[in-house]
Amino acid sequence: MSVFNFPKWYDLHVHFRQGEPVADYIQAHIDMGCAGILAMPNTQPPVARVSGKNTDTYWTIENYLRDLQKAEGDAFSDIIIPLYLTPDTTPEMIIEGAKSGALHSAKYYPPHGTTNSEHGAGLETYMNNGVFEAMQDAGVILNIHGEEHGLSGEAYFGANSNAEDYFYRQRMPALVEKFPDLKIVCEHITTKTAVDFVSSANQNVAATITPQHLMFTVADLLQGLKYHLYCLPLVKFEQDKQALLAAARSGNTKFFAGTDSAPHAVKATQCGCAAGCFTGGIAPQLYAMGFDLDENNADAFKKFLCTNGAEFYDLDIPTETFTLEKKPSNPEVKSNATPLHKGLGIELNWTLKL
Ligand SMILES: [Zn+2]
Repeated sequence: MSVFNFPKWYDLHVHFRQGEPVADYIQAHIDMGCAGILAMPNTQPPVARVSGKNTDTYWTIENYLRDLQKAEGDAFSDIIIPLYLTPDTTPEMIIEGAKSGALHSAKYYPPHGTTNSEHGAGLETYMNNGVFEAMQDAGVILNIHGEEHGLSGEAYFGANSNAEDYFYRQRMPALVEKFPDLKIVCEHITTKTAVDFVSSANQNVAATITPQHLMFTVADLLQGLKYHLYCLPLVKFEQDKQALLAAARSGNTKFFAGTDSAPHAVKATQCGCAAGCFTGGIAPQLYAMGFDLDENNADAFKKFLCTNGAEFYDLDIPTETFTLEKKPSNPEVKSNATPLHKGLGIELNWTLKL
């Protein structure tokens, strides 16, 4: 019987949204052994100010943090909320935010790249207006959604390239060269190109990987059009999945867990499909399935899920633990969104206990 004991972990990329459902989403994260979280700022309006009152245009980290804490988020030891970068973000805002202790990271969204990402600007804006420089100086981490915006057809998703591939070949080298001391997390990477880029970049460059990108390819999405697997960046090809798995299993400290769990109450409609997989309550089980967790890779799994990310963000490794047992489970997750295993109709190979 395989039973593994791990320290509680940090989900370093999750969407908790806003309003009444937040409490259920947070509970699902607590139920899967999360000690802390990095909650993405793409609410409506976006969290694009550090402190002060919310306005119709922008919310503040201070207020969104309070909202999450009120929705039982005070059970978490740490909550990081990145600042949503917009053309209105200033270097002064970064410096002051960091000094106040409220600002730890900031998120780059390609304009119109994914859910509620219409407020961002192109990468060159922040490379040239002093914002990235201020982040580098103040030690504020950059969370980057690495996809080129404005592409379509073959350039967006083709056999030989795609929006992420393009971004890591054409944009990232210049960014890292210009700001070598800027700590960067390449969020939810999905391609061999991104794995190779992060592996060969300096030690300030790391990456999160979601469970679904370790488990599935675009074939799984397309066969039967399983829209619950529709997320951005899209699941890619077998060689990409193998590169992601090799990176995660390598124990390399640059790669760590960030689920990108993104609940949508209504996933598919008559005119499209919301991007995002909801993996609250089930992520460690999915990661263990992707990893094919066993005695030989349990140490690498622990680094990937529990310690690499915490160390990159300078968070304490929790003393509390949870267990994963190799025993099928089909957990109910209380939520208005469909968790990925139910959406795909799969049983989990692992049972999680706190
Ligand atoms: Zn995300």
